[in-house]
Amino acid sequence: MNCIICNSLRLSETIWGGYSFKGQKYTIIRCANCGFMFLNPFPEKYILNKIYEGDSYFDNYYAASTGIKNYIDGMTDCNVQHVRIIDFIKNYKKKGSLLDIGCAAGGFLLNAKNSGYDIYGIEPNKRMADYAKDKLGLNVICGTMDDINSLGKSFDVIHAGDVLEHLVDLKKDMEIIKNLLSYNGILVINQPLSYNRSLYNLFLKINMFFKKDRYSQNPPTHLWEFNSSTIVKFLENAGLAIIYYNIFETPSRPITIYKNPGVKNRVSCKIKNFSSVVSNIHILRRFCLGDRALIVCRKR
Ligand SMILES: [Zn+2]
Repeated sequence: MNCIICNSLRLSETIWGGYSFKGQKYTIIRCANCGFMFLNPFPEKYILNKIYEGDSYFDNYYAASTGIKNYIDGMTDCNVQHVRIIDFIKNYKKKGSLLDIGCAAGGFLLNAKNSGYDIYGIEPNKRMADYAKDKLGLNVICGTMDDINSLGKSFDVIHAGDVLEHLVDLKKDMEIIKNLLSYNGILVINQPLSYNRSLYNLFLKINMFFKKDRYSQNPPTHLWEFNSSTIVKFLENAGLAIIYYNIFETPSRPITIYKNPGVKNRVSCKIKNFSSVVSNIHILRRFCLGDRALIVCRKR
């Protein structure tokens, strides 16, 4: 096995453990050369398909910003974030065709449509895609990148929010995404950098050090873990030029998402919020601290 960004064979385990799912352990390993992280063994496609085809993925807590609602019930809670991203996109493209990859039940697309874009969506989960199509009347295809590719369309804006870390054929799908961009089209990546350096991650690292079992019981859906430099290398290798790049730490989810918040939850929330403030301090921005990236790129 080698790193898909730099081809190095020097891979080692990390303090982050990995996932333990249905009797199989998936370990997060790190490339010693470039720092890119990914799962070993790689989850098989049929296992991932089962996770995304079922209801539990979108009904699970991490599908909605509120932490307790399923995706559809929590969809309007995300309007504020969606509108913020759409306003940001307007700086580059005021109108035109917009494709949302992994659009789920269409929360982002609905906001984009209301902002005047000619919208398209692709979503592998049938229940979500049907909701977007039938209940919200959105232009959504249930399928994979290959299905949207076969339409032979190109797009002025492609939005990939929390997507790259889930793509099994990451390099191939990135090639498809790039080729779907129209002349001067932009790709907007809004992406977690879960293990990038930040004050909060330092706190989590110390916690991990004392943990006996470092494997989470969640399904192994995050196949790749980018940091502030590997995301740049990956996009440049894919033939894209970065025209906007911002790394930041998101504030904590509200403490109210916990039914009975303990001391650990409260401390964790406080540290996350402090870490978020620190990541935005002007003189510290050169260190690219934080757990999220907002990137805009174009074809080179
Ligand atoms: Zn590497």
